[in-house]
Amino acid sequence: MGTLSGRTAVVTGSTSGIGLGIARALARAGADVLLNGFGEAPLVARLRDQLASEYGVKVVYDGADMARPEQIASMIEHATAEFGKIDILVNNAGIQYVAPIHEFPVERWDAIIAVNLSAAFHTIRLVLPQMLARNWGRIVNIASAHGLVASVNKAAYVAAKHGLVGLTKVVALETARTNVTCNAICPGWVLTPLVHKQIEDRASREGVALEEAKRALLAEKQPSLEFVTPEQIAALVLFLCSDEAAQIRGAALSVDGGWTAQ
Ligand code: NAD
Repeated sequence: MGTLSGRTAVVTGSTSGIGLGIARALARAGADVLLNGFGEAPLVARLRDQLASEYGVKVVYDGADMARPEQIASMIEHATAEFGKIDILVNNAGIQYVAPIHEFPVERWDAIIAVNLSAAFHTIRLVLPQMLARNWGRIVNIASAHGLVASVNKAAYVAAKHGLVGLTKVVALETARTNVTCNAICPGWVLTPLVHKQIEDRASREGVALEEAKRALLAEKQPSLEFVTPEQIAALVLFLCSDEAAQIRGAALSVDGGWTAQ
């Protein structure tokens, strides 16, 4: 029996990167999991079947677009109908776009705020009533080092992630006298498709090889000079789901190789 057997989880943006690492760890710990995110249907189906058979848990998929409140609502209904309840909510779906603010496309701003911030408002407002009714729940918001400090050319991302840290604190206060907790995790660089795109852009902009661009990216921000791994983020999510973490509330927990210690 895993430590989370009998629990059920929704992880947004879990077809790739950090979200997939979190979904895998939750399934390994015995939780039934709803996967969400984009991806080709056969690949997503294979992923779903693989997790279910490897860990002996129920795994379902919902392709809801986190920029669309009505699709978010139907995903929450879907998970509740499949599992009977939602115990754990991980708001992880996120997108990035990099440009100076005076050149920042308005539609990119709107999309980043919708997916990286407003989606968490919607999932939380829709899931919280049932968590409070059962008096147990764990909400984990995947923010970023950029939820605590800024960088140039990331106006929408930094604003959304700071907003997500603020939202986390409010939810933690509103649930403080219950067995529902809400916290944020603030990763530094994790080598996922989202960051790979930034490495490729940097390599072509500076005319250097990918490995060189990777080193430069780390050297600029992350004192450890090592990437954080999805497994390291997932391990913290599992701890936040444990009874031992019951009094961690409204925290923004850095896993960033020293980025925000500077
Ligand atoms: P990724 O691109 O590998 O994965 C993002 C996931 O979100 C994918 O499953 C994608 O399909 C999904 N997604 C994107 N738009 C969506 C939408 N509109 N609706 C539903 N799903 C959508 O990225 P990642 O690096 O694993 O990022 C995961 C989270 O971690 C993001 O919130 C990101 O901001 C955050 N983060 C990443 C890093 C990093 O270095 N990679 C650092 C700090 C924070």
